[in-house]
Amino acid sequence: MEQYLAQLNEPQREAVLHKDGPMMVIAGAGSGKTRVLTFRITYLMSLGVDSFNILALTFTNKAAREMKKRIAEIVGNSEAKNLWMGTFHSVFARMLRYEADKLGYPNNFTIYDTQDSQRLISAIIKEMQLDKDIYKYKQVYSRISSYKNSLITVKAYFQNPELIEADAMAKRPRLGDIYKEYVDRCFKAGAMDFDDLLLKTNELLTRFPDVLAKYQDRFRYILVDEYQDTNHSQYLIVRALSDRFQNICVVGDDAQSIYAFRGANINNILNFQRDYDEVASFRLEQNYRSTKNIVQAANSVIEKNKTRLDKVVWTANDEGAPIIVNRLVTDAEEGRFVASSIFETKMKEQLLNGAFAILYRTNAQSRAMEDALRKKDIPYRIYGGLSFYQRKEVKDVLSYLRLLINPKDEEAIKRVINYPARGIGQTTMDKLTIAAKQYDRSIFEVIEHIDQLELGINAGTRTKLKNFVNMIKSFAIMSEKEDAFAVAEAVTKKTGLVQELKKDGTPEGIARIENIEELLNGIRDFVEGQQELADATGSLAEFLEDVALATTLDNDTGDDDRVSLMTIHLAKGLEFPYVYIVGMEEDLFPSAMSMNTRSELEEERRLFYVALTRAEKQAYLTYTQSRYRWGKLIDAEPSRFIEEIDDQFLMHMVPQDDYRYKPLIDRDIFGEVDKSKLRQTKPTAGTPPPSHRPTDEQLRKLRSIKPVQDNGQGLPKVMPISLVPGQEVEHMRFGKGKVIKIDGVGQDKKAEINFDNGGIKKLLLRFAKLKVF
Ligand code: ATP
Ligand code: MG
Repeated sequence: MEQYLAQLNEPQREAVLHKDGPMMVIAGAGSGKTRVLTFRITYLMSLGVDSFNILALTFTNKAAREMKKRIAEIVGNSEAKNLWMGTFHSVFARMLRYEADKLGYPNNFTIYDTQDSQRLISAIIKEMQLDKDIYKYKQVYSRISSYKNSLITVKAYFQNPELIEADAMAKRPRLGDIYKEYVDRCFKAGAMDFDDLLLKTNELLTRFPDVLAKYQDRFRYILVDEYQDTNHSQYLIVRALSDRFQNICVVGDDAQSIYAFRGANINNILNFQRDYDEVASFRLEQNYRSTKNIVQAANSVIEKNKTRLDKVVWTANDEGAPIIVNRLVTDAEEGRFVASSIFETKMKEQLLNGAFAILYRTNAQSRAMEDALRKKDIPYRIYGGLSFYQRKEVKDVLSYLRLLINPKDEEAIKRVINYPARGIGQTTMDKLTIAAKQYDRSIFEVIEHIDQLELGINAGTRTKLKNFVNMIKSFAIMSEKEDAFAVAEAVTKKTGLVQELKKDGTPEGIARIENIEELLNGIRDFVEGQQELADATGSLAEFLEDVALATTLDNDTGDDDRVSLMTIHLAKGLEFPYVYIVGMEEDLFPSAMSMNTRSELEEERRLFYVALTRAEKQAYLTYTQSRYRWGKLIDAEPSRFIEEIDDQFLMHMVPQDDYRYKPLIDRDIFGEVDKSKLRQTKPTAGTPPPSHRPTDEQLRKLRSIKPVQDNGQGLPKVMPISLVPGQEVEHMRFGKGKVIKIDGVGQDKKAEINFDNGGIKKLLLRFAKLKVF
């Protein structure tokens, strides 16, 4: 343990060694908060705290896995396994599995993802014959979601005239009725949505004191990362569970609170001292992640916020390079700049793709980046958007699996009852839905009794329905004996899903089959992995729960080397040597929808602070002169956040006196645009302040970054090197060396070389700049 404690600075060590009682660490980005949390868990275990008694809540499941891995390195795998770690949703879904019956849910309840919830709400709006332009299903969903996160149940809603009136004023007087119907239908389907996982946990802990006591006793030590982004519902859970032992450790940064739109409540930090007695509070001020330039630039931005706790962040790291700012004409050009810059840096510094991240404010911006990266053959991965498990074909298979575990699952049955086509039409489904409501049964149960009911469905269709139900039942019987993989494999074969896609024969159809294969591989890995765990069996139900709660960040196995693309919201807690923040434009970042109040603008600024502080070595900010938005080409103005960074930390690639907008009007890309509406992007007068002008040294460096010429055929051809083992080579950084081994083909050809200065290195030949003797 001593040896590990030596890897911490003094205040970090104090925080780790704090024994019992409530404690909080509120500190700036990159100061080691997450590290403290990890070491603290290890430390507690070294003191003899049972790993079963520790609960750690993280922002992603991936973060939890990584933490567990680090802990396992220190205390050994078998102990680390018993820790309860994960996101609020995954941890409490697991707890609800054990206790579901108390709330009237089956233990195998389904978890509806956002897509399922929105489909159901959309169906309800249609059934209630409401105007779908007024009752927009996504808005209704987020309204319901915010009620749930504030613990406003249907009953509480109808007892609150203010809420009813607010919805009526918003021209949606039936919102409460939709809410009620939605909740009833989920319950009847044996399903919980994401918000229910927190709401029902609260209900469980409030209504059943014995259950509360049991979990209070179990989780004697509770640790929460990213505490600034907990919402009210999460806050209450943590509060209730920690009430007895008060061993609660929260870490966070008020300057990184970026989920207010989802109900995160910054007051949870501010009130922590009030909620608990004798809170020990620790300050971490040294940043270990970023260069001086980046740390100071980020400080200069966040200082503009009025609502914030006073904090110091400094670093002993190198000065580093200034943040590079570049203005491009269009988003396509912005993409090309970013891709070229990544390519050049990678070659020059001999880096992996994983060293680079591109961050943006909105998902739509990824397209231009993807196009440019593809042209240069740079592998990338997009986080966010549709996760693998939400792709149609994958979700179809999953729906079959869900249904055999929980036949009441309404969204699942609606999805697959007629896919592949079995001649069960919409009219039949409508009749079944109405009957289900009338008899207060699930659709599945209605079909089971269809011969006794007068539903006006003809005999032929009734047979088809019964065949479907029998098929699902046969899978269910199989799942009692066989593991998840065997069942899933049988499902893909016997339902005719794969045959359907094979018939299709198009490249898309083939890609879909590959995705299904990938899903089966995933299930197999899961079964094998789970069998090692203490309290898991590798059952289908466990797999489905994992899937329902997987975020796109979680799917990252990290096996292959790619550039990361994601929204800034998702990047929280992560770090990359090189970070490109693109689309630095007014109305985009800060977002047009967030400029009505100071607090919204301050949240955008915190978001920018998060983005900037992800960078270890170098940050780039790019913006365009014009961009397609809402189908129109509009002129863009550089984001105010660029101006808010103290000049001394920036370097503009285009000198500022060249900013004059003259080229804008001449460009033919403007076509039909009303030129009189074009605004100037920057003041025209004056020469740039000295700090904007690159120094000779900086200019020399910049000029050496030549954009890679795009020959339209993908990767520019780098001089082919034919190398054989035994050959002597020289590398610009590692010096002389001898080739040991060559493997891979084409683009992936690698050489293992033993260098005099660098030891053994594996280099991708298409990037390695080698001299051959
Ligand atoms: P964020 O606010 O972005 O979540 P954080 O405060 O959680 O950041 P960490 O991610 O824990 O910070 O640490 C940032 C980086 O600094 C990590 O790479 C971590 O390993 C490193 N680091 C933290 N403390 C030390 C230390 N005492 N010595 C060396 N490296 C450290
Ligand atoms: Mg962190």
